[in-house]
Amino acid sequence: MRVVNSFLAFLLVLLLWGVKPARAQTGVDMELAASIQFGEAITFTARLKSPLAFQNASLFIHDSARDVTYSQPVTFDANGVSEFRFDVRQSALRPFTTLLWRYELTLAGGSVVQSPTGSIRYDDTRFAWQTLESGALRLHWYNGDEAFGLAALNAAQAGLQKVSSFFPPDLSQPIDIYLYASESDLHGALPGAEAWAAGHADSGAGVITVTVETGANQGILMEQRIPHELMHVLLARQVGAGYRNIPAWLREGMAALAELYPNPDYDGVLADAAARDALIPIRDLCASFSPQVDSAFLAYAQSRSFTHYLRDIYGVDGLLTLARVYANGVTCERGPERAFGVTFVKLERDWRMEVLGQESLSATLEAFMPYLVLLCVVVVFPLIGILNSLRKKGAAHG
Ligand SMILES: [Zn+2]
Repeated sequence: MRVVNSFLAFLLVLLLWGVKPARAQTGVDMELAASIQFGEAITFTARLKSPLAFQNASLFIHDSARDVTYSQPVTFDANGVSEFRFDVRQSALRPFTTLLWRYELTLAGGSVVQSPTGSIRYDDTRFAWQTLESGALRLHWYNGDEAFGLAALNAAQAGLQKVSSFFPPDLSQPIDIYLYASESDLHGALPGAEAWAAGHADSGAGVITVTVETGANQGILMEQRIPHELMHVLLARQVGAGYRNIPAWLREGMAALAELYPNPDYDGVLADAAARDALIPIRDLCASFSPQVDSAFLAYAQSRSFTHYLRDIYGVDGLLTLARVYANGVTCERGPERAFGVTFVKLERDWRMEVLGQESLSATLEAFMPYLVLLCVVVVFPLIGILNSLRKKGAAHG
């Protein structure tokens, strides 16, 4: 309990790691160490190399992927040793992100001294990872032989090629791809993830985690899931910090277009939902997808189809313009109007008609409008004229 309480006292400091207090600082020599208990905690240990009298000490831990810094008062024992247990569940720390940490000691006179900065990557230490590298890509796996790792690296490179057909991928920072052997292994690493998730991209950290079960389908799974997650990371690099404002249907739609093998079940599910008039309105796919596996699958199928349709009409550049418009903060509803000068409602209606063959009442009316006008001119207006003249005649007789 003590550990939990001390964690609750943990203060989230919304300061950038690089921002330092105005007070002059000098260094203090310390030995730093950190150990990972995956899924539970990281224990940070420090030992003063020579005795030092000070008033108080603080530990600063910086999550570089999310650009968040935590600070925590700590104590040193008689031997000059401090130990702090950082609860990774409370901070929802993502696997394979890098933490930087340092100590600050306030001396008797009020001046502050600072330790060197330590760095640790929160690796999934449950498995013995093997690694293959090619350029900016680093492929990690623990289940399967060398050929398995090579096949996955090839799928990643083919994924990069696919992304290149949308925009030149920014590979100035590495991308780490971790392959899990089962969904339960993956979900052990991502406790908050939806039950149906078979992959995750941490775009800030450049980290991809995907499940690829070994077996007859492993090649297809690699060529679906790795390029999909690569698109998430690279699109985020392409549009910058506003990436999170891009609606889920467009983020997932573009990622699905990067898949080398589209899921063959998408078309059937789409056609069935269209026939039953059970499609999800696209505006319901702006924020996130349903936690229910069936609705989520339909959401992916629709997102892919709708995004594919937009690419057919407006091209790859149009899709990117739309993504940038969203990244700049435009609402989900207004994006197409801003990017293409067409309302969301019209685009969705056109997609339903042209791709899924759905007719809507307003579209039917619109299609028949010229004939309705003609009908009025040729039949209705003369008829009104005849009726009027008959009524006048009747009145005259009266
Ligand atoms: Zn995705």
